[in-house]
Amino acid sequence: MKRGPGTKSNPNLVPSFEEKRLVGCVCEEDATTINWMWVHKGDPKRCECGYWFKAIDAVNHFEQVEKEMEAEILERKAEWEKQQKLQQK
Ligand SMILES: [Zn+2]
Repeated sequence: MKRGPGTKSNPNLVPSFEEKRLVGCVCEEDATTINWMWVHKGDPKRCECGYWFKAIDAVNHFEQVEKEMEAEILERKAEWEKQQKLQQK
């Protein structure tokens, strides 16, 4: 799992299709054990190592990601078209 900053105000987001999700935290870079915990939606959880997790609605999350990607693609396409026009001059 990709780890974000993991602070309380910027927790690691965990997309979940259910009300709660089991999350594993590798507290130390070289840790051999994973600290498992349940994270409930609307109730951010702090691991023993101080790392925060927050369960979010997966459906909304992926829709949002899709929209962002689409916007980025359109932006790049517009940029590319602009370049093409400049080259034609
Ligand atoms: Zn941890």
